[in-house]
Amino acid sequence: MNINRRLFIGSGAAAATTLAAPTVFADGHAKPRVVVVGGGAGGATAARYIAKDSKGEIDVTLIEPTRMYYTCFFSNLYLGGVKGIDDLGHSYGTLAANGVNVVHDWAVGVDRDAKTVSLAGGGQVPYDKLILSPGIDFVDGAVEGWDLSAQNAMPHAYKGGSQTELLKAQMAAMPQGGTFAMVAPPNPYRCPPGPYERVSMVAHYLKANNPTAKIIVADPKPKFSKMALFQEGWAEHYEGMIDWIGEDFGGGEVSVDPAAMTVTIDGEVTNVDVCNIIPAMKAGRIAEIAGVTDGNWAPVNAADMSTKADADIYVLGDASQQGDMPKSGYAANSQAKVCANAVRGALTGAKVFPAKFSNTCWSLIDANDGVKVGATYEATDEKIAKVDGFISATGESAELRKATYEESEGWYAGITADMFG
Ligand SMILES: Cc1cc2nc3c(=O)[nH]c(=O)nc-3n(C[C@H](O)[C@H](O)[C@H](O)COP(=O)(O)OP(=O)(O)OC[C@H]3O[C@@H](n4cnc5c(N)ncnc54)[C@H](O)[C@@H]3O)c2cc1C
Repeated sequence: MNINRRLFIGSGAAAATTLAAPTVFADGHAKPRVVVVGGGAGGATAARYIAKDSKGEIDVTLIEPTRMYYTCFFSNLYLGGVKGIDDLGHSYGTLAANGVNVVHDWAVGVDRDAKTVSLAGGGQVPYDKLILSPGIDFVDGAVEGWDLSAQNAMPHAYKGGSQTELLKAQMAAMPQGGTFAMVAPPNPYRCPPGPYERVSMVAHYLKANNPTAKIIVADPKPKFSKMALFQEGWAEHYEGMIDWIGEDFGGGEVSVDPAAMTVTIDGEVTNVDVCNIIPAMKAGRIAEIAGVTDGNWAPVNAADMSTKADADIYVLGDASQQGDMPKSGYAANSQAKVCANAVRGALTGAKVFPAKFSNTCWSLIDANDGVKVGATYEATDEKIAKVDGFISATGESAELRKATYEESEGWYAGITADMFG
């Protein structure tokens, strides 16, 4: 009886093994291998979801140089004094504990024929599917007089962490009545309301600490995200403090001199105390190295975020050219879940659900004065296409604005848990 029972179990197990016999993947490896480059809003989410939902069926490696990820989202609230820097930092420990092989290094090369990623520290990491979510880099020569070697004198603070801290330190050191300048970026760029939330939070800080200080914004665009809401808020909370110089007034004709700390707008030279340069952007360099970009961004198929150039390479978040979604953390996280599902389906036969995407971007204008814009999207053959959207209205009550801010707090807690576990 015992022997029969043992035999039964044995033969059943053998049959199950035969049925589930995995495909043999690259270089004879039995388990499929997914490599994710970039542990931010897109990459950390994709790595976590693939590892969690495949329950050990897929080897997942995440390549990310930094040991702590400092979110850009809410970094403006840190500038405004509403959040501390520690509120923005997240480690990769829980991802590692939950089965993601976290490698702290830079990806410096992609061999699409051999299907390997090479690392700055040496060594090659093989993949069956490669997901790139490297965020943004800056377009060389976008602002005359500025390049990355000037980022300490004139910070961009458009990647999280030390740059954000530097900008805050410079704001705190401004003389009373000094001038804070911002050079805003052309479209498309990371976080459409980001520069204008930053102006609001800088004004919030200066109003309390340096009330006679001025803010100049040179903008190459005639209009910007949530413009009416921001302008209403600036007039209400920071009257006379902010001078926004749009395209019509020469806002796009800008050069800077980091050594002299001057900004020249449409021929007029101004001495400034702090200068925040947010240059034109492009996909993080590794996407270009992998050969999946066309111009500044990486075109992708909306149904699964695979690139147009290579069906085994996917690009998420800011680096992708996907259609109607803004370049935001919410969007990258949403795209990552669609991609993770598609990658699991391709590698293990797991059920693939139709792609659906959503986004909301909240901005804080003054303490408890929050506004938002958002939409839902679907995949079409051409792009991620907007289905419907919403935006806060001007003239809303203080209670509604406070509730909107509180909603953003909930979103921040939710998305960071969704990324890092
Ligand atoms: C001031 C500001 C405010 C913002 N506010 C909001 C907001 O309120 N809501 C919102 O949704 N979004 C907001 N965003 C936008 C949001 O931060 C980005 O859209 C989002 O982080 C994009 O995710 P990503 O995965 O594409 O890139 P990231 O999150 O930037 O992640 C990229 C990661 O890739 C790594 N990396 C790059 N190159 C390599 C390489 N070669 N090898 C290995 N790793 C590499 C980087 O170290 C980085 O960790 C804001 C942005 C800014 C600047």
